Amino acid sequence: MQTKVNILIVEDEPKIRQGLKDFLEYHDFAAAEAVDGLEAQRLAAERRFDLILLDLMLPKISGEQLCQQWRQSGLQTPIIMLTAKGQEQEKISGLNLGADDYMTKPFSLEELLARILAVLRRMSPGRAVGQRFSFGGWEADISALTVKNHSRSVELTTREAQIIQYFAAHPHRIISRDELYEKVWGESMTELGTRTVDMHIAKLRAKIEKDTAEPQIIKTVRGAGYKYENE
Ligand code: CA
Repeated sequence: MQTKVNILIVEDEPKIRQGLKDFLEYHDFAAAEAVDGLEAQRLAAERRFDLILLDLMLPKISGEQLCQQWRQSGLQTPIIMLTAKGQEQEKISGLNLGADDYMTKPFSLEELLARILAVLRRMSPGRAVGQRFSFGGWEADISALTVKNHSRSVELTTREAQIIQYFAAHPHRIISRDELYEKVWGESMTELGTRTVDMHIAKLRAKIEKDTAEPQIIKTVRGAGYKYENE
């Protein structure tokens, strides 16, 4: 059984907040509400959300400040900023602060739904790349736990398959060990986690790279993490 997608609505205007909650619940999301920046901060620290709808102008802590704080603390939950008309400048800085998308009020709920689904698709590697995709010269088949090329077929562990699926969904981007551990293992980083990630990458490279001393598929970015270059 699939659990519902959890969305946090941060909006101080009661009518808009209630309208969003009703709409999201109607579309089978679970929706939590925060009426100001402080409550949003508390809720996001207590629980894990799949997506945050964040109003820009909020009492106590602004949406802009919240977004900045969350990104600085490593929170990777996708954020869609809700801005009022005539706040173009804030809209742009909102994106620079790490929001994934923005909507200008008044917006259509159908448009918002489309944006929410687009952001969630980008976040979910399974939905983004599917079960079969090409990966650095290999044909990956996640459900069969294999990668194949013209000359051979290599078996993968479930974890290795999840790792390549995550890289395939996020090409050309530096992925930190913390991010990989959080997204693939579903846990927040520990000292042991760092070693676990490195060990799995090493084993995976031994299976798919021509030369593990000079990896070309999953590259090491010194001091930052790893990067998958899709051709
Ligand atoms: Ca507001």
